[in-house]
Amino acid sequence: YPSLAGRPVVISGGASGIGESMVRQFAAQGSKVGFVDIAVPAGEKLAAELSEAGHTVRFAPCDVTDIDAYRSAIADFARAHGDALVLVNNAAHDQRHDWSDVTSAYWDDRMAVNLKHAFFAMQAVAPGMIRAGRGSIINLSSISWMIMTPQLPLYETAKAAAHGLTRSMARELGKSGIRVNTLSPGATVTPRQIELWYTETTMAAIEAQQALAGNVYPDDVTRMALFLAADDSAMISAQQFLVDGGWANT
Ligand code: NAD
Repeated sequence: YPSLAGRPVVISGGASGIGESMVRQFAAQGSKVGFVDIAVPAGEKLAAELSEAGHTVRFAPCDVTDIDAYRSAIADFARAHGDALVLVNNAAHDQRHDWSDVTSAYWDDRMAVNLKHAFFAMQAVAPGMIRAGRGSIINLSSISWMIMTPQLPLYETAKAAAHGLTRSMARELGKSGIRVNTLSPGATVTPRQIELWYTETTMAAIEAQQALAGNVYPDDVTRMALFLAADDSAMISAQQFLVDGGWANT
């Protein structure tokens, strides 16, 4: 994707899993990548590795639920590398919970990590994109709000809302040349998921649900993100794209 070369890209939750794949792949396209994460040693290690390899990659330790801190990190990146023309709202945390135990504070906490920061990051990058007359925003959602897995009501509510946010902001920002899309991975094999519950048995069970053989890996998701970020998708906005091996729609 030649249009991504030199393009400033901001990614949240870039220190592991799908976000890490995105940091690596955008860097490989020649983009200038800024990413934030609470996983500080992992973020620093990734940024150092890619910088040593000659890429422009900057890591800022930041909890995206601290909206002011996240705004500052986005502003610092813009001062150093230019206004973000691509934003990937990727950070999330899918903790299982029983609906009957949910407190008001827990609700706020889950919405903050899985939804709220995405809106405020858009608000932070939009002025620069408006000045440039172009931009692409990608909100990570999930297959899970379409198939509804057990014990994830708050995560699934946030992920459903993420697509609502996509559609609404696509309307708000579209005439300024800014596109907003939702990218919904299926069950994706990341180090954290392997640690949590992926075994050969669960991965085979997931595969059995999909239309396609095999499992989804982070780079499969990232390839769609690159397309949505690049000028190749210039007339695509307000859409949801599933990279799920054909699970949810079969
Ligand atoms: P992951 O847990 O491997 O990585 C998420 C990253 O976000 C981590 O590095 C984590 O430290 C960071 N993070 C979490 N809370 C943060 C906070 N408050 N501030 C800053 N950083 C924070 O997750 P993943 O599996 O790579 O998922 C990436 C995205 O894809 C998420 O939006 C997730 O909901 C979505 N998704 C993943 C799957 C899957 O199967 N892996 C499926 C559907 C959707």
